[in-house]
Amino acid sequence: VPDSTDVLDSVVIGAGQAGLSASYHLSRLGIDHVVLDANEHPGGAWQHRWDALTMRDVHGVAELPGSTPPPLTREQANSAIPEYFAGYEDEHELPIVRPVRVDRVESGDDGILTVRAGERSWRTRTIVNATGTWTQPFIPHYPGAETFRGEQFHTVAYPGPDHFRGKRTLVVGGGASAVQFLGAIAPLTDTLWVTRREPVWRTDDFTPEAGIAAVALVEQRVAQGLPPESVVSVTGLALREQEREAERLGAYAARRPMFERLEPTGVRWADGTFEAVDAIIWATGFRPAIAHLAPLQLRSPAGGIQLDREGRGTGAVADERVQLVGYGPSASTIGANRAGRAAAAGVRRALKVRQAA
Ligand code: FAD
Repeated sequence: VPDSTDVLDSVVIGAGQAGLSASYHLSRLGIDHVVLDANEHPGGAWQHRWDALTMRDVHGVAELPGSTPPPLTREQANSAIPEYFAGYEDEHELPIVRPVRVDRVESGDDGILTVRAGERSWRTRTIVNATGTWTQPFIPHYPGAETFRGEQFHTVAYPGPDHFRGKRTLVVGGGASAVQFLGAIAPLTDTLWVTRREPVWRTDDFTPEAGIAAVALVEQRVAQGLPPESVVSVTGLALREQEREAERLGAYAARRPMFERLEPTGVRWADGTFEAVDAIIWATGFRPAIAHLAPLQLRSPAGGIQLDREGRGTGAVADERVQLVGYGPSASTIGANRAGRAAAAGVRRALKVRQAA
């Protein structure tokens, strides 16, 4: 797909689950668009997930519209899902251009948006932002962090369980990644677990309705323009077969609240207690990758981007030309799929409003 000085009807930024779903639905509606993706290869963030993450370890990957996802085998997720995406892109002839890392989206006096990536640019009437969170790992700051002499990893750089053999390892964070890391590491070495809040364990009576209610909490946040929280943080945690050994060893029961500071050889709590550790894994999550949208001033005073339809929609309240998918309540593979359809409909509405004007 060549760069164009013509004005496109839409530009999708990002080709993960959310961007591919949006592109599929835009194509079905006959809306002229391109998809710009920073990665060299298909697969969105999945291609960068750690090698030890198999399809059996992922928490269910929804199918892209009109297709079948890879089976839950022992195959690595970082190859199975990228292959699946690549096949999907070809089958539906989605108009993807890569690698293109978008650095800015600007609005002109004529109401046309310019999407810039280095020297290249695309002019468009609308955008669908689908950039995910993987490129924005978040590590909270604690005093003394720079003095710690052991190893520190964020989820993005998790080297797999064998690396931690014989190293006393601290896992920080109350999400699904922390639970998985402990499940893999505790059978190999001594672990500690700290979380900000008491972990919420999902009980047997977790139902699809409970899942919907949990997503609704994130919708309420984006309806108010607050920064979204992870959907998983509100659906609760569950242990699977592969985590039972760690559970038996007490890795989850020994959870402690957050420490107060880091010291060269370990961490110290407010009550003065100290634990020596050799390695820290920060499973502390991600933030939305939306810096390139800053010139559009979409952020509300509350710090997030307010979405329409009480947070259930994908349209930015501040700018009808902008759709956000894979953001907040739709930051899961199933949510991303639905959001892709909603965003294509939102693009169509915005184009009609513009035509009528
Ligand atoms: P991504 O897959 O991150 O795709 C975004 C794409 O945008 C990437 O290709 C990236 O290169 C590109 N991009 C980013 N910035 C730019 C830019 N400036 N310009 C151009 N392109 C850009 N969900 C589930 O449903 N089940 C699970 O088991 C599950 N496990 C997860 C495990 C981990 C460790 C994490 C972090 C998330 C997990 N999720 C899971 C959430 C899920 O992966 C995502 O919400 C979902 O895949 C939607 O992805 P996405 O399309 O929004 O983003």
